[in-house]
Amino acid sequence: MNVAYKEAIEKGVKQAANPDYETVIIGAGISGMAAGIKLIKEDMTSFVIVERASGVGGTWRDNRYPGIAVDISSFTYSFSFEQNPNWSRVFSPGDDLHNYTKRIAAKYGLYPYFRFNTSVVSAIFDKATHMWTVELGDGSYMTARQIISATGALIETKDPIIPGLDSFKGIKIHTGHWDTSLDLKGKRVAIIGTGATAVQMIPELAREVGRLDVYQRTPIWVLKKPDGDIPPILKSAFRNIPLLQRGTRLATDVFSEVVMVISAIYYKQFPWLVAWAERAGVSNMEQQLPDRQDLWDTLTPKYGFSCKRPTFSNEYFSVFAEEHVDLVTTPIEKIEEKGVVTTDGNLREIDILVLATGYRVFEKGNFPPYTIFGRDGDELGDFWERERFQAYEGVSVPNFPNFYNVLGPYSLLGTSYFKTVEGNTTHAIRCIKEAKKRNATCVEIRQDVHDAYFQDIIKRQQNTIFFNHNCGTANSYYFDVNGDAPMLRPSTSVESLWRAKHFSLNNYVYSDLKK
Ligand code: NAP
Repeated sequence: MNVAYKEAIEKGVKQAANPDYETVIIGAGISGMAAGIKLIKEDMTSFVIVERASGVGGTWRDNRYPGIAVDISSFTYSFSFEQNPNWSRVFSPGDDLHNYTKRIAAKYGLYPYFRFNTSVVSAIFDKATHMWTVELGDGSYMTARQIISATGALIETKDPIIPGLDSFKGIKIHTGHWDTSLDLKGKRVAIIGTGATAVQMIPELAREVGRLDVYQRTPIWVLKKPDGDIPPILKSAFRNIPLLQRGTRLATDVFSEVVMVISAIYYKQFPWLVAWAERAGVSNMEQQLPDRQDLWDTLTPKYGFSCKRPTFSNEYFSVFAEEHVDLVTTPIEKIEEKGVVTTDGNLREIDILVLATGYRVFEKGNFPPYTIFGRDGDELGDFWERERFQAYEGVSVPNFPNFYNVLGPYSLLGTSYFKTVEGNTTHAIRCIKEAKKRNATCVEIRQDVHDAYFQDIIKRQQNTIFFNHNCGTANSYYFDVNGDAPMLRPSTSVESLWRAKHFSLNNYVYSDLKK
């Protein structure tokens, strides 16, 4: 038996006849809220949503950096059951999303279920009672029949590994912990990273600062953004003609499904889609930088479109034509008290260092961000590290009964995150409902079903861009240490959502303590 497991059990885990809650949902972001809404709808109201922060909204609560906005159209980037006629733009700013989550939490009566400022440290399944014991950050415990893990993926920020990073005497700030009171006016600023976050932020920084150095290690594919304000008359039309809103969503769904999903997942079948996207990316750059041909090659990725998350911007490239902005591609050697030193020995002095260096993703300790011991004491992070990331339909793992992931391995649909969440929570709630119907206290995915599913995923992956179009140079967080690409689900959203509603409930084994 795993030592930590044994110790935790011995520490005095509660073993009451009934759990404190039927369900513990971990996380009050979009995923946790979706799970809560569905439980209420099914009248299964014995649940709690535990959240480490002090409010709802996850990513949209935490990220406050200048320029933050969705990079999938808002019509698609929202719940299917709660479309919003009031988006301010086609690609709405972060605040709109945060307000949307708060409004939904109130509308669906979720607030009584939240337990804020409460982090989960570990969870242990007790096969004698068919209960999870969840250890909280304050040292207390709660018990539950099942856990829905809704902790997201891009939550733990990652600082770059650069010598001397801590010796910098100016202001150093990661985009994920932005201080909105930071005065940028006229300052000398450096930004490290050119991922999707930096692409949104760089034009905003350039408007404010005195000088901007952009440190690019790997360029990014950036398409034109079909964005714009939504005028009041259109908002009113969306409010009064729901069919118009649904039709608009269908159009943006199809666009993002083709550009972000089918092009990547069915690369072998439709390589011309990627070729088209790459041409569109190059053309976007050339149009924004007509007089800076000297930068074209440097700003063009050498890896295939979708090997890492592409993004959209109508102004990112044009910033590099501005006098006060420098694109620096000489590698960084170290950070000093006064600024950044590149390998050519050049020191660029700055006042503010912005780290747009992303997040920990498929790593033990982050996925999930707590330890969890299953039926026989195996720890999920250990299991995934040992046996590769895997989960049936991205949701369930053998030996971890009554445990459901939202955004588990191979479950992210490259289109809207909301679709992933709706699919995964539909799956989990169907299992929980079925257990109730069968009077079962333990629900576990069958090993043979899980294994067949995983084999199919691995086979399908061979069609994707990830293994066929020079992704090795992308430095993409889609890949894990084993060389797998467990982030994206190799299927369309339509198939994924259909399967969430129709997978056979007999793929799970149901058992009851009393039998
Ligand atoms: P990211 O995509 O992981 O990009 C991190 C950047 O930092 C990369 O350019 C990386 O370069 C660079 N970097 C890391 N360590 C470095 C080092 N030691 N030296 C130099 N450069 C270094 O992170 P992100 O931009 O924060 O985006 C993360 C994800 O968040 C996105 O892909 C997207 O899914 C999501 N996002 C969504 C939205 C939205 O929908 N509104 C907006 C922003 C972000 P390499 O590529 O060379 O490693």
